[in-house]
Amino acid sequence: MSAPLLDSAPAWLAFCPRCAAPLVTRRVVDRPRRACPACGYVHFTDPKVGVGVLVVEDGRVLLVRRAVGPERGKWSLPAGFLDQGEDPAATAAREALEETGLTVAIEGLLDVFYNPPGRGGASIFILYRARRVAGEPTAGDDADEARFFPLDALPDLAFASTRAAIARLREESSADLAD
Ligand SMILES: [Zn+2]
Repeated sequence: MSAPLLDSAPAWLAFCPRCAAPLVTRRVVDRPRRACPACGYVHFTDPKVGVGVLVVEDGRVLLVRRAVGPERGKWSLPAGFLDQGEDPAATAAREALEETGLTVAIEGLLDVFYNPPGRGGASIFILYRARRVAGEPTAGDDADEARFFPLDALPDLAFASTRAAIARLREESSADLAD
């Protein structure tokens, strides 16, 4: 649990963004945080939020190979970071288009995943079920390859959230076969 506590008071934040006085570390709302003795400003380190899509066709899942860090060269679900003010579902669909060339329709929320800190990427990952509306897999943006993989022949996967989502998908598909 030490990493999240350390992350709550980033030392690189030296000066108050409101009044420019030097910040100090003190305990605020149960954690050490960077705070301003001059004006009372407190810096809250908000979680990094990622959004992505799970597109499955004929038992195959759409994945992209990451062209940038973290976890460069491994495969993940099409996804991106959510910026302030963005709608998560619309952003997930846009990231899918940018990374895979597929126009997708969001069908619903699959789940919200937690990635432990330390390896980069999003700490909170919102994953939607989506289906292809148009397009063929063509890599772009942060991806250098995009294709569908059978669930029994998956490549090296990036991120705990991707692995958790794929593991669940495999459980569901084996449950369907057992029905
Ligand atoms: Zn201040």
